[in-house]
Amino acid sequence: MSVLEMREITKVYGQGPSEVVALAGVDLTVDPGSMVAVMGPSGSGKSTLLTIAGSLESPTSGDVRVAGADLAGMSRDELARLRRRSIGYVFQDFNLLPGLTAAENVSLPLELDGIGGRRARQRGLEALELLGLADRAGHFPDQLSGGERQRVAIARAVVGDRRLLLADEPTGALDSATGEAVMRLMLTACKRGVAAVVVTHDAQLAAWADRVVFLRDGRVIDHTVPPPGPESLLGADR
Ligand code: ADP
Repeated sequence: MSVLEMREITKVYGQGPSEVVALAGVDLTVDPGSMVAVMGPSGSGKSTLLTIAGSLESPTSGDVRVAGADLAGMSRDELARLRRRSIGYVFQDFNLLPGLTAAENVSLPLELDGIGGRRARQRGLEALELLGLADRAGHFPDQLSGGERQRVAIARAVVGDRRLLLADEPTGALDSATGEAVMRLMLTACKRGVAAVVVTHDAQLAAWADRVVFLRDGRVIDHTVPPPGPESLLGADR
């Protein structure tokens, strides 16, 4: 079963003369273990696609299913639970809480979901370890480098049993080596069965994905399977 299924998605903002068609009939399906990169000029609908996939906004028309569940049929509480349990978000500005340590930032979504503090912290530490950050667990965000903060944000996005990882320009504020490391970590998460959608303007980073979707004026204009790229360095079992 696909983790994300979007069918005939349209999104219209505003009304009358100020109406903006942000998405005009987009289909997107992402299976477990696969990463899709979304590219396109500014204003083409990339962020809108991501917020609708993440159930942060509803489409004007069309169907969205996450892990088989139709979002249209869900109550606000059910949507909130789905977001906490199944969807991880990574944004360019990291969105870490400055008053919490790296470990606390990562375990927070689990605690919000009712998992006991000790178990949540244990799983948070495991996620940090996976991303090579075990020795930074007790550091506060302002004691971490930009790349480390982004890795903490990724740990928070994949902690627990999240199925869908959504990232909006996750490498935007990073130098190219750190950006590449961040893509590698997201790909590692994919290899464990997570489905990922990554918005990027960087064609080199998009080449890490299994598929690249190009948007223009709210429509998909091209689907490309990139040639074998740096991801082949991760091993032949992909
Ligand atoms: P991208 O991420 O590719 O830059 P967006 O999804 O942010 O594109 O925007 C697509 C179009 O929708 C743009 O014309 C933008 O101005 C418009 N738009 C996005 N969000 C809103 C909003 N909340 N209200 C009105 N228009 C919006």
